[in-house]
Amino acid sequence: MRTSQTLISTLKETPADAEVISHKMMLRAGMIRRLAAGLYTYLPTGLRVLRKVEAIVREEMNRAGAVETLMPVVQPADLWQETGRWDDMGAEMARLQDRHNRDFVLGPTHEEVITDIVRNEVKSYKQLPLNLYQIQTKFRDERRPRFGVMRSREFLMKDAYSFHIDQESMDETYDTMYAAYCRVLERMGLAFRPVLADTGAIGGDKSHEFQVLAQSGEDAIAYSTESDYAANIEKAEALAIGVRGEATAEMTLVETPNAKTIAELVEQHGIAIEKTVKTLIVKASDASEHELVALMIRGDHELNEIKAEKVADVAAPLTFATEEEINAAIGAGPGSLGPVGLKLKLVIDRSVATLNDFGAGANIDGKHHFNINWERDVALPEVADLRNVIAGDASPCGNGILEIARGIEVGHIFQLGTKYSEAMGANVLDQNGKAKPLTMGCYGIGVSRLVAAAIEQNHDDRGIIWPAAIAPFQVSIVPMNMHKSERVKALAEKFYTELTAAGIEVLFDDRKERPGVMFADHELIGIPYNIVIGDRGIDAGVLELKSRASGDKSEVAVDDMVAQVI
Ligand code: ATP
Ligand code: MG
Ligand code: MG
Ligand code: MG
Repeated sequence: MRTSQTLISTLKETPADAEVISHKMMLRAGMIRRLAAGLYTYLPTGLRVLRKVEAIVREEMNRAGAVETLMPVVQPADLWQETGRWDDMGAEMARLQDRHNRDFVLGPTHEEVITDIVRNEVKSYKQLPLNLYQIQTKFRDERRPRFGVMRSREFLMKDAYSFHIDQESMDETYDTMYAAYCRVLERMGLAFRPVLADTGAIGGDKSHEFQVLAQSGEDAIAYSTESDYAANIEKAEALAIGVRGEATAEMTLVETPNAKTIAELVEQHGIAIEKTVKTLIVKASDASEHELVALMIRGDHELNEIKAEKVADVAAPLTFATEEEINAAIGAGPGSLGPVGLKLKLVIDRSVATLNDFGAGANIDGKHHFNINWERDVALPEVADLRNVIAGDASPCGNGILEIARGIEVGHIFQLGTKYSEAMGANVLDQNGKAKPLTMGCYGIGVSRLVAAAIEQNHDDRGIIWPAAIAPFQVSIVPMNMHKSERVKALAEKFYTELTAAGIEVLFDDRKERPGVMFADHELIGIPYNIVIGDRGIDAGVLELKSRASGDKSEVAVDDMVAQVI
């Protein structure tokens, strides 16, 4: 590609509204431009990278035995009504009406559509297992779109859905997809961890997230230094609390529990709260301060009023933690975490086995009221704080130390069981001719989020350093004074032609710019290798080939250059 042919729109200044490195760099390198909140245009360079990631994902899906399809972005409401998710999805799902006042949604995900296809097309176990995928635009009206394409409203996802006659087949495909996800991330050269995840609102039995490790990640993951154990923080806490088996059980209720939830709490655990609270800690007697605080710092910092009242017959007394107590426990000065919103410490007898048990108790109308996630828009606690409060100096289950790292969720796989097939009547005939609901799995990868995640792990202060597999170009040619030197121009053209013919993607900088400007742009865009052509080099018979990653410059004979790059 010649620079004169394409759109190179680099920016010197960092745009003020970009918070994380990848967002800043994608804007500065001219990869994306914002159209509105959470909506981005991919400029030519950005699109090349997106397509590279997409191609890797596609190859690995095909290799794993998944088959590509393409479903509409716009989906009829009645499918969502069948599964009940029309009501459950809330404001994140964008809805629209057509000219006949019929309801539609902009697909945030495609379980309903694919299950509809399969219930119509697949009749017998003989057609199974079947794994269908697509690479398609999703729309989620995120409460707080941010970090550029990392959390946008419109984004590209690879979503796959597998269908099985039994659990054994489900397990087999799950393992294959797990391995395929690892390959995708390995090919992209990313440091990542698959972690156990809660199945949450989507329902189902078994789940892993694929977390790309990065300080800017919105997720926290916990892993053991001595075993293979790795989980996202919610899952790790549930486990830690479960295995400890002592008098410890705490949780933060970040979402507002409704009156019914509270009634359930009273009934199940003998605790009562009269008014709706936004954030609540339930603490069994003798939980360590560490654990309590771990959950506290995940609370809503802006919350300053909690309406809760002790009612008669609560087994243990109601006590209130002061802000000073909290700060003292986490070793921070007053106010350093902002006003911690959790003023309530409700002490109950140990009757709660695990967080999961407790959460299940509050699963009312199929809605998950206990979201143990911290709210996304509170200040993120530092890793060090989390490590102190959660890991402390021992790991709860005895296997090494529980370390905490930040991660970006780039992929998520689930075993869904028969949740969707039962709701939608997706049955097939089994070996005995009996109708049986399909067992289902689903597997998502954030294709556009991966582009940003790759930058978070691969950059320096001069710009992006693309892993070779997803670089927009493999080589750039910077001819010095090409518009004055015929020799330089001729050699640049020759290299461009020969490298292109050899299948190398070349960015040929034929702009009338100073070399310094060109070098800065190429470093910012992150092209792995850069060939510098000048009169002096031609005279000496050697040219410079520079590596973006190492900064090393090697002298290559003019005649060897093409062979060297290929
Ligand atoms: P998150 O926890 O970050 O909101 P999610 O759990 O809601 O993500 P899934 O429903 O598991 O997302 O979707 C599969 C994948 O799609 C995610 O692992 C992520 O890589 C990607 N993804 C989800 N939401 C967004 C978004 N708003 N922008 C970009 N990619 C996204
Ligand atoms: Mg989400
Ligand atoms: Mg998630
Ligand atoms: Mg997820």
